[in-house]
Amino acid sequence: MTKKMLNGKTVAVLLACAILQQPAPLRATGNAEALEKIAASSKSGRAVEYLDRLVNGIGARHAGTAADYAACEWALAQFENIGLRNVHAELCAFQPSFAPSDTGETRNKPVRNVVADIIGVELPDEYVIIGAHLDSTGPGRGAEDNGSGVAAVMEAARLIMKSGAKPRRTIRFILFAGEEAMLLGSRSYVMDHGDILPKISAMFNMDEGGRNPVSGIKVAASMKGPFSALEGRIASMKPGFDFTLHLVDSLSQGARVECGGTGTGKSGSSPAQPEEASNPGGPAVESPSPIQAQPGGMTLEIRKCFGTSDHAAFLEAGIPAFMFLQKGPEPYHGHSGNDNFDVVIPEVLQHAAAAMAVTALTVSDMDCMVDRRNVGTISGEFEGCGIGK
Ligand SMILES: [Zn+2]
Repeated sequence: MTKKMLNGKTVAVLLACAILQQPAPLRATGNAEALEKIAASSKSGRAVEYLDRLVNGIGARHAGTAADYAACEWALAQFENIGLRNVHAELCAFQPSFAPSDTGETRNKPVRNVVADIIGVELPDEYVIIGAHLDSTGPGRGAEDNGSGVAAVMEAARLIMKSGAKPRRTIRFILFAGEEAMLLGSRSYVMDHGDILPKISAMFNMDEGGRNPVSGIKVAASMKGPFSALEGRIASMKPGFDFTLHLVDSLSQGARVECGGTGTGKSGSSPAQPEEASNPGGPAVESPSPIQAQPGGMTLEIRKCFGTSDHAAFLEAGIPAFMFLQKGPEPYHGHSGNDNFDVVIPEVLQHAAAAMAVTALTVSDMDCMVDRRNVGTISGEFEGCGIGK
């Protein structure tokens, strides 16, 4: 933090946040014009181009395969092109075993998270993380799950940069490795970055975002005040695309991670998911092929986990973490041979990207970090799956 940042108002607000342990209301932001520009891009942009290049250009990205590695290299180049800072790949502490993937592909490449920043102008050492998993599973090309989330993250970064926004805190974009192999990337990130965990205000995860419109997030009552502006900003972006804050007692409410299958969440084509199915407690379907991970060089037999996504690794660490909920009639094709480019609806994807961008900027500009008192605890066997070990 520079001397310039320590003006009287900043000191007063920081003291108020610390003493009251209460989130202050959203301050008047200097990014109003940028937010308007982003909202105007909710109808057209480049999200579907990113999806095309990832899904049709590279294809399926099973953790540890050559295609997965190529996707990582591609993502690094895109973040550089967008003009983000601190663009790099991080070798994950947790690595998949060298056993062939479900489709027989060789896993001989290390999995890496792709990380890039827009540096905060006032509180650069505090973070709002926007993430999605880069890998895929199953016989399809991983368009819905989770090429759409990756494309949305990339387009969100581009929209924020193009808007000229000057976020108060650093917005960190992370494309996580090996989510389908038991959250290898997000769990590695949390394990390897204990120093910054207290400075992560919030994490927002997009797992699927191109079929049914982003419709809201779950927040605890103690967090709601500062998030209220977010609700209106996103809901007003596009007619017919609503956005609602769903109040819960704790962010981990209903979250349960069960171990016993590869791939997180449901598999195969299935009926449209109810809005709540996007939360960590979503139904789980077992798929074959156990996997091993090696935390810190020590091989650990890890049973397969499902029912959640990368935000669960942050919730487990006590960080306010949110999944973008989606609502609509479109059936889910993830983990199946149908999960290809044509199942993603471009206008839904572009809206999701703009919603992510508005969320990132709005939360970055909050007076205080997001309230942590009602993050809750993940139930089930998450602990037993190796996180923190
Ligand atoms: Zn997914």
